[in-house]
Amino acid sequence: AMENVLERFQFYTPALNGQVSHRLQMASHLRHAVRKKEMLLHYQPQVSLQSGKIVGVEALLRWQHPEKGMISPMEFIPLAEETGLIVPIGEWVLRTACEQAQRWHDLGVHGLTMAVNLSAKQFAQKNLAAMVRQALDDSGFSSHCLELELTESASMESPEKSIEVMKLLKAMGVRLSIDDFGTGYSNLNYLKRFPVDQLKIDRSFVRDVGTDADDLAIARAVIALARSLHLEVLAEGVEDLVQYEIMKENGCDKVQGYYFSTPLAVDECTRLLLARSTF
Ligand code: C2E
Ligand code: CA
Ligand code: CA
Ligand code: CA
Repeated sequence: AMENVLERFQFYTPALNGQVSHRLQMASHLRHAVRKKEMLLHYQPQVSLQSGKIVGVEALLRWQHPEKGMISPMEFIPLAEETGLIVPIGEWVLRTACEQAQRWHDLGVHGLTMAVNLSAKQFAQKNLAAMVRQALDDSGFSSHCLELELTESASMESPEKSIEVMKLLKAMGVRLSIDDFGTGYSNLNYLKRFPVDQLKIDRSFVRDVGTDADDLAIARAVIALARSLHLEVLAEGVEDLVQYEIMKENGCDKVQGYYFSTPLAVDECTRLLLARSTF
């Protein structure tokens, strides 16, 4: 009994209260962040291992807080999900990414894929397909160049429903990619039925691929799995030449990571795209 009391007492320590109020405060700031134009997107290049060219970019959200500076999505995306704010924020992300991709297209950068992350909450929205349709129509961006990234866990929350939503998006011509592949619980039966185009090998398997035989085996297995399901496969978090060469040797299609580029601010990314460099 005494232990219980102590536990409960500890629960109400000032430190934890501080944490709770910090989160409440952050949530209330987050609510106005889009309107106050504090959100921005960075873009990280995705490189084809066949051509060495940039074939896509992933839009990654940043929050430029007036006092706290740049806040990582790792810090505020979970909060945005819990509060449901990810729905309007995610819509802003999709619209902004499509508008930017169309601007690059107008500058002569053709066929570039724009990858956008979708959270589980967004994926569960009834009007998701209509929202995507609207963002494409308003921006003029081609649906065939838009790629939506879903995590395994978001897709597996209610797999039958997911298949329906995926089919709606596929019917519009949008590409679908499974993010962080290998970290969730993969039901291969469902994977076979998901109308997706690509698997993204999670960074955690890529990191030690040069030194850890198990990670190498996993990376190879994911590439083989993608091959046999006729899916494309991208390795994320490629940071050095060793990782790059292993992915290339093993038939991975695309790579993304600091070895090529960190996520870039829009102007920097524009310069890189217009330079048409080959890696
Ligand atoms: P993610 O979708 O797995 O994105 C890849 C993350 O890995 C990014 O972190 C990127 O900056 C980082 N990264 C890329 N290359 C390397 C590398 O070579 N080494 C290392 N160590 N890291 C690398 P970031 O931008 O901090 O985003 C973190 C996560 O936040 C994302 O993980 C994604 O789950 C989420 N996120 C970001 N933007 C959005 C968004 O617009 N909507 C939603 N729902 N989630 C987002
Ligand atoms: Ca992603
Ligand atoms: Ca990922
Ligand atoms: Ca990841």
